[in-house]
Amino acid sequence: MTDLHRLSIRELSEGLAGAKFSSRELTEHYLKRIAKIDAQVQSYVTVTAEQALAQADAADAAIKAGNATALTGVPIAHKDIFCTQGIKTTAGSKMLDNFISPYDATVVAKGKAAGLVTLGKVNMDEFAMGSTSESSYFGATKNPWALDHVPGGSSGGSAAAVAADLAPFSTGTDTGGSIRQPASFCGLTGLKPTYGRVSRFGMIAYASSLDQGGPIARSAEDCAYLMNVMAGHDAKDSTSVEKDVDDYVANLNGTSVKGLRIGIPKQYFNVHGLDADVKARVEESLKKLEEMGATLVEIDLNMTEAYVPTYYLIAPAEASSNLSRFDGVRYGYRCEEPKDIMDLYKRSRSEGFGKEVQQRILIGTYALSAGYYDAYYVKAQKVRRLIQQDFLKAFESVDVIAAPSAPTTAYRIGANLSPVEMYLGDIYTIAVNLAGLPAINAPVGFDKDSLPVGLQLIGNYWSESQLLSVVHQYQQATDWHTKRAAIAEENA
Ligand code: GLN
Repeated sequence: MTDLHRLSIRELSEGLAGAKFSSRELTEHYLKRIAKIDAQVQSYVTVTAEQALAQADAADAAIKAGNATALTGVPIAHKDIFCTQGIKTTAGSKMLDNFISPYDATVVAKGKAAGLVTLGKVNMDEFAMGSTSESSYFGATKNPWALDHVPGGSSGGSAAAVAADLAPFSTGTDTGGSIRQPASFCGLTGLKPTYGRVSRFGMIAYASSLDQGGPIARSAEDCAYLMNVMAGHDAKDSTSVEKDVDDYVANLNGTSVKGLRIGIPKQYFNVHGLDADVKARVEESLKKLEEMGATLVEIDLNMTEAYVPTYYLIAPAEASSNLSRFDGVRYGYRCEEPKDIMDLYKRSRSEGFGKEVQQRILIGTYALSAGYYDAYYVKAQKVRRLIQQDFLKAFESVDVIAAPSAPTTAYRIGANLSPVEMYLGDIYTIAVNLAGLPAINAPVGFDKDSLPVGLQLIGNYWSESQLLSVVHQYQQATDWHTKRAAIAEENA
């Protein structure tokens, strides 16, 4: 078959179970496409062809023996922030260019146990800090919809690989939007789960109180399949929550859009820099949801102006602490011929980290230092609580909250935004992480340059099923999620 890359996860699952094609054929098909097309997109840092084929053969044997799960034999790409035993894990950094983890992240281990076939590791902003994937030591990934544009970040490789049909779905992580914003820029569906729903064990830490893994895929249905694998309590992650996991696939029609109360935050639609096309497409999608029976309710989220400053204190503060482990002694890059231990630390970190990462370590260290701790870090934590309370109050009168995922569509590669301009682009996503809430991006059309626009729906704690279900029904009634970038139409 020449069009295996067009099939949804459900179709792949059924096709494999019904022996319409084997996992080996499917895996070879994807590997061929990667070999032919990824030179243009540059979504993969590492392709694990040999291991993938071995996993595919094992999957085929399991299917024959009647030992298959719904996903046995289905290929996946992992963000290069998830540790993979025996395979390089770089986090997009020179610091970890040669790092091979001795163990698998829980998300990777669960994927293996479910029979998923790992095609490789995909590119990202260095240590997940960024919104373009340009800060990767391995170079910029391209947006499959327009190769001179960025795919977003930090999970840019995860989104680009799926949008170019170089993987049926992928894992991403979201500390301040890194699943939702690249999904938005690449016309995909991406879910950031409630903090504590997906294990962070073996996921290289950026800001531990905000980091959360989740799926990036073409549809809510495809995301639901991956959530069934990723979600769940893990004794190895003390912040993972002991709470029953839903069957996200079975619940896809569980929430009716009829009667759903969708909150529209007044403050969100007057944000400086909100692109007119983005605003129009998001409003059209809300109109569609209204036609499907939802009620739109205007709400207030009064803390909106505090989002960016609060996040850009807390995230770098936690990063400065997390990244202290990369010292040239225990992990990764070590400078040549250090004179003494101070020289070893200084040069290994100056040479191993890129500019954005160094900038954030400096800001974070400053905010945490004696004398500034109360004025900056403690204050930011107090504001964080107010932001959370703002959402909880809103959820007393609405079921979900709607927003754009980003104020603009994809930037041009090399647009060279100043840090502040770039940080302001995170306005719609970061508060969700500060509050620990789940949120989803769904594609809802295109701007005048044919670049994808995304709608974000934010839910209350543990409402992943509801978010997936609402987007699934929207996707049953519309076809934005079926649109493909030209490069994805190319055959290998
Ligand atoms: N763009 C945001 C940042 O640079 C979010 C990144 C993320 O979610 N990992 O911090």
